[in-house]
Amino acid sequence: MKSLLSTLLLLLVLSLCLVTGLGFRQGRVDEPLYPSPSFKRTAPLSNYFAQLKNTPGDTEIFEFGEQDGGGTVLVLGGTHCDEPASYLAAYLLIENLKLERGRVLVVPRANRSALSHTTPGEAFPASFEIETANGPRRFRMGSRYTNPLDQWPDPEVFVHYPSGQELSGMDSRNLNRNYPGRADGSFTQRVGHALAELVRVENVDLVIDLHEASLEYPVINAIVAHERAMDCASIAVLELQLEGLDFALEPSPANFHGLSHRELGDHTACMATLMESANVIQGRLRGRTGAETILKGQDPMYVRAAEIEMTRVPYTEDGIPLEVRVGRHIEGVAKLISGFNQVKPERAITYAGVPGYSDLQKNGLGHYLSGTK
Ligand SMILES: [Zn+2]
Repeated sequence: MKSLLSTLLLLLVLSLCLVTGLGFRQGRVDEPLYPSPSFKRTAPLSNYFAQLKNTPGDTEIFEFGEQDGGGTVLVLGGTHCDEPASYLAAYLLIENLKLERGRVLVVPRANRSALSHTTPGEAFPASFEIETANGPRRFRMGSRYTNPLDQWPDPEVFVHYPSGQELSGMDSRNLNRNYPGRADGSFTQRVGHALAELVRVENVDLVIDLHEASLEYPVINAIVAHERAMDCASIAVLELQLEGLDFALEPSPANFHGLSHRELGDHTACMATLMESANVIQGRLRGRTGAETILKGQDPMYVRAAEIEMTRVPYTEDGIPLEVRVGRHIEGVAKLISGFNQVKPERAITYAGVPGYSDLQKNGLGHYLSGTK
């Protein structure tokens, strides 16, 4: 009797290990993307830093266009993988972009490791689905941080390289505190280094790093720009405002190190920018969290918070759906490229095929992610 019970218990434990292990492994599987006909090729990030080869830090670069005298723009999605509009906007570009002049490089999973797990204690769903003409498409929800399986343990205090600025230990796994990276550093520093190498080797003119932030975060619905990107970003913000999209222009703080707009601007020749949309799922005030929260961006606690002016952006029971957040990113990318074209007309980048903000509100995100291109 006792041995039967032990065997049953052992079987139960083993099957639990199997189920959870398979789920865990599934987190490492990249969802398939269906690039537009204008797509040229993918290259692994390890082409720019061989040490990343065969590690979870290696990630795909989707390349559009060629060296034809036009400029090169690099769009980064998935720096923080609990900011789904950042990688969804990158996926949408990849699947719809028709490039006419110049080059567009898209890295949709900049910190690929961060998309392989969620953050403990945040109650994030592991994935969410978007309806398309070809049925539902599943996308992973990730974390702000590199997976601890790839970098562990965190130090008490993270010392940024090369500035020496002290940050919280957990930020040692935050890609956007690890630029310009370090070739012989931690996993996250090596990813940062590889992305900086990509910018240098490909002579990237303009970097657009896509992000989201909670509604109480001071830098929200904004474009953050390095000094050299200020002209380009100012034009973009003016054009966005003229279309009724409220964006703030924020100068990249000179003394806050590790961020893409500061370090890629200082350590490469590019114009470095970053964009933020408002994502309720990252907020500390939110209530119950599920896949619907990601898609609809609705949360009753934030409606109350907005009533007592605790949010930095307007917020009602309509929420801030994924369509709005991805639409803002896509429109922001268009206007930053427009700004670049006005600053450097001889290197103008032109493209078509990508839906605008109002197209996304009218037809929904799934319409442009049907996976049939
Ligand atoms: Zn972010």
